[in-house]
Amino acid sequence: MPLLSIVLPSYNEEQNIGNTVRVLAQVLSKAQIDYELLFISDGSRDGTYAQIEKAAQEDPRVKGVEFSRNFGKEASIFAGLRLASGNAVVVMDCDLQHPPEMLPQMWKLWQEGYEVVEGIKKDRGKESLGHKLSAGLFYRVMSRLMKMDMTASSDYKLLDRKVVDVLVSLPEKNTFFRALTFWAGFRTTSVEYEVKERLYGESKWSTWSLMKYAVSNVTSFSTLPLQFVTFLGVVSILFSIVLGIQTLAKYLSGTAVEGFTTVILLILIIGGFLMVSLGIIGHYLARIYEEVKGRPKYIISKATENLHPVEERTVTRQ
Ligand code: UDP
Ligand code: MG
Repeated sequence: MPLLSIVLPSYNEEQNIGNTVRVLAQVLSKAQIDYELLFISDGSRDGTYAQIEKAAQEDPRVKGVEFSRNFGKEASIFAGLRLASGNAVVVMDCDLQHPPEMLPQMWKLWQEGYEVVEGIKKDRGKESLGHKLSAGLFYRVMSRLMKMDMTASSDYKLLDRKVVDVLVSLPEKNTFFRALTFWAGFRTTSVEYEVKERLYGESKWSTWSLMKYAVSNVTSFSTLPLQFVTFLGVVSILFSIVLGIQTLAKYLSGTAVEGFTTVILLILIIGGFLMVSLGIIGHYLARIYEEVKGRPKYIISKATENLHPVEERTVTRQ
């Protein structure tokens, strides 16, 4: 019988674990799906991992690991993909904002031969206006870059084993899971779902972390910002040609002393362009530096007993 692995990134979610295990067990056993739950505690500072261990003792289908510190949701997702042993793998939030009732439908589509089932948000749930606007801008940019409509995409997806194997074999450290499945291709379909309210706890995202996330995702998929530097250069050259001619003309006609304002403005404009350009180049340089260092995406510090060892895993059991 095929196995479904469900990867659940969890960061400070102690209140959610037990409930999520119960709800998923209900939905999946009703649909007669063989499953395992893989909780990835992302360096939680509360009792999340203790809850995972407790659940694992009660039910061998529940497995989990703890990171040595907070590595971010992307890292949790990839750790989960690596540790999953199912024929199909679903990634979903452990706060149940991704409705588990969709699972049987996604599973059915997989059995029909689809290799990627994308969860598409019908609406974005409750969010502040600023959040909505910036998310809108970010997804428009990403959709342009990916040449695919990503505006309603989410991390809630089902992937076939083949796709999981492709994703975990990617050498890059700076990943953007949501877009990578689009990039990978395969036979894809989608299901629509409504984002639910979080039951316990609060969202882990601050405006600042979302901004960092957006910039890092755009630059991990595109070098277009670097071309922006060239664009600034061309604009400056056009400017300088016009001003150069004007200056020469003034010089030749003997009225060249004035123009201090122009000089100040030019210094300011060009200085600004240069600094922006250096910043963009510096950002990419930093990204290259991070990739070249080749540090692992995450470090696992603990794992539940029932988790089968995977070569790359570095577990230090107490
Ligand atoms: N998460 C994580 N690491 C982090 C932040 C969040 O693994 O550094 C998990 C979190 O536990 C949750 C999911 O990612 O299961 C989505 O996070 P959250 O609910 O805070 O985001 P939102 O639903 O508000 O987008
Ligand atoms: Mg959430």
